[in-house]
Amino acid sequence: MTDTNTAARILVVEDESAIRTLITFACAGAGFEVESVDSAIKAQAMIDSSMPDLVLLDYMLPELSGVDWLIQLREKPQTRHLPVIMLTARGSESDRVKGLNAGADDYIVKPFMPRELIARIQAVLRRYQYQSGAGAAPVSTKIVCGPLTMDEASYEANVDGVPLSLSAKEFKLLLVFAKNPERVYSREMLLSLVWDNAYVDERTVDVHMLRLRKQLQGTKAESLLQTVRGLGYRAHVE
Ligand code: CA
Repeated sequence: MTDTNTAARILVVEDESAIRTLITFACAGAGFEVESVDSAIKAQAMIDSSMPDLVLLDYMLPELSGVDWLIQLREKPQTRHLPVIMLTARGSESDRVKGLNAGADDYIVKPFMPRELIARIQAVLRRYQYQSGAGAAPVSTKIVCGPLTMDEASYEANVDGVPLSLSAKEFKLLLVFAKNPERVYSREMLLSLVWDNAYVDERTVDVHMLRLRKQLQGTKAESLLQTVRGLGYRAHVE
């Protein structure tokens, strides 16, 4: 089967070694990169060092339960939109509801067929990849403008994967340009879009533009923000 998600990295968090082995085998067979741990504590350590594309999370885990860890993940901006599929025990309707309420993208009931597991993983990955959140699924909030990627929900921005540290206003300002590359914005337009009122001096825009350019200096987006003489500013993608 061909799929664009075949190189995705899956983190399996499951304390039962037989199930962990089964899942690892199925995922590897489908072309995914797989890593597995037996506790949420270890999973958090894994995530802190390298973010997977999707987490398969067992509901019942020793120490910190899967659902409690999921609640923690959803509270942090870095993992708020990390795709998570919950593994629950057969017949436990309340576990499934709790898992979904905690922010799981989907759940799968044990025991399951490896084929079903792979199909669910691919469906969740596709949903994120193509930003076509169906039903209650979260819609991806990522905006890509050349080497710049911004996430409206988490207020994170990076250039070629290197994070920028922006204030809320700087983020909003950069977002205006990222959403409409090549479009020229006057200072007045930017004031109304980002500052919501006319009591701020137009020089405020220049000061913030200067700060943004400083942030982008030395990155691949160094020449992204351009001055259009007599008109204002625009984002230009090479
Ligand atoms: Ca378990």
